[in-house]
Amino acid sequence: MPHHVIIGGGPVATNALETIRQFDDSPITIVCDEPAHSRMALPYWLAGQVVREHTMTADDAYFKKLDVDARIGSRVTKVDTSANELTLSNGGTVAYDNLLIATGSSPVTLPIPGTDLPGVTPLWDLAHTQGVLDAVEGIAKPRIAMIGSGFIGMIMLNAMYKRGWTLTVVEREPQILPRMLNGEAAAIAETWLGKKGVDVHTGTTVTKITDAGGTKKIELASGQSIEADVVVVAVGIAPNVDFLEGSDIEHTAGTGGAVPVNDRMQTNISNVYAGGDIACGPVLFGDDEVHPIQPTAVDHGRIAGANMAGQNVQYPGSLLMNILDVCGLQCASFGQWQSGADTMTMNNPTGNVYRSLVWVGDQLTGATFVGQANDMGMLTDVGMAKGIMQTQTSLGPWKEFLAENPFDIRRPYVAAGVAAKLRNTTLIGKASKMRQYQFGGAKATATPSAEHAVFVADRGVGGS
Ligand SMILES: Cc1cc2nc3c(=O)[nH]c(=O)nc-3n(C[C@H](O)[C@H](O)[C@H](O)COP(=O)(O)OP(=O)(O)OC[C@H]3O[C@@H](n4cnc5c(N)ncnc54)[C@H](O)[C@@H]3O)c2cc1C
Repeated sequence: MPHHVIIGGGPVATNALETIRQFDDSPITIVCDEPAHSRMALPYWLAGQVVREHTMTADDAYFKKLDVDARIGSRVTKVDTSANELTLSNGGTVAYDNLLIATGSSPVTLPIPGTDLPGVTPLWDLAHTQGVLDAVEGIAKPRIAMIGSGFIGMIMLNAMYKRGWTLTVVEREPQILPRMLNGEAAAIAETWLGKKGVDVHTGTTVTKITDAGGTKKIELASGQSIEADVVVVAVGIAPNVDFLEGSDIEHTAGTGGAVPVNDRMQTNISNVYAGGDIACGPVLFGDDEVHPIQPTAVDHGRIAGANMAGQNVQYPGSLLMNILDVCGLQCASFGQWQSGADTMTMNNPTGNVYRSLVWVGDQLTGATFVGQANDMGMLTDVGMAKGIMQTQTSLGPWKEFLAENPFDIRRPYVAAGVAAKLRNTTLIGKASKMRQYQFGGAKATATPSAEHAVFVADRGVGGS
């Protein structure tokens, strides 16, 4: 049986190895420089809602149960595709038959003085999160300045808001969340943040950071300055591809760089797969893109795992989705959310409500939602709009219905049979099994009601 080697320990890696195990007992080795964990869980730790251990997604017992040779704490420095061999930072080598590159991305920094000062940090991984928690220890109301207002930065900002810290955001674009919301939707979120006591500066850059006795001073091109205990630099990410330098695996480095993959998650070398934040792969609407989000990482891991295990599974493509709690205001955008030629828009800034539905013919290809967290109707509409896009359902006359009734997505969703389609869809032609890791070996205790059991039962599409 082929030896599968996976570099990484995030969602791509764990989903790939569990998928391989759904098919066979072939040898698997995983190499990761960090403990296997979920970056998505870091905000809950930062907010004080869970402890660090709850962000972990695997431990020794889990790897043993799945019969995986886990080299946690090891870093890959080189890939030789002619010898099918990896080199590790300790000089050791690992041979493979199939390789999956799932190394994720890392934050980039700003080319300005002061980014190397203590207390000036990215906020992306376990060490950064621990660093911020340590830096604010003993400060009654820490002052945090965040440079950049992208999706992940704002997730972490929300975590710090829950702590009651004093928050400032600096964004060089004229609006916050420039790659997630259009100007009208962002304006609602920005006003909301102001009401929640978050100081937002848009359309200006940081020129310098200095330190006087532990207090950081951030100087802005606008002439203003901000004082903070911690400065978070959240200005973008680049894929972790440094170890591919000199290999013949196609890739580009830097922001926007990536490893191109086909719909089986194969790179230009057929026994080398890639997925997640580093992969530029098929998307549901438009040309191949990098989608550095958890759902895409999970999908890529499952598709790559199935194909490495000898299946022939094609990925229909990922749907860009950013769903964010901005200090109590829910913001979400999907697919080709930037308004196209055929867009329905509802904008009510005083009610903190914004919606746009972007169409190609009678197909919904993008959407944006803004509304308050207690608006249950909006929250269910977000899920249903996502389902309509994921199933690529043509809505026919229901498109006109939505033009008249933009707050009633439920009817088109049900009438066009989206729920039924979703229920019968699986990514790899086989239902996924429950993850085989629970923190502390905990057992799931929920007993679904008869109604709920319908949704969690085996879908009957090919076994467990
Ligand atoms: C704070 C935070 C919050 C987030 N919240 C959300 C959210 O709410 N929703 C959402 O959709 N997405 C969210 N994301 C994004 C999501 O977590 C990522 O898209 C996802 O983790 C990507 O998975 P991955 O497996 O590709 O890489 P990763 O999860 O980054 O895992 C890659 C691992 O490989 C390791 N590695 C890198 N290079 C090497 C090497 N040479 N040798 C060995 N190991 C190496 C890395 O250190 C890392 O541990 C969040 C991200 C962050 C940082």
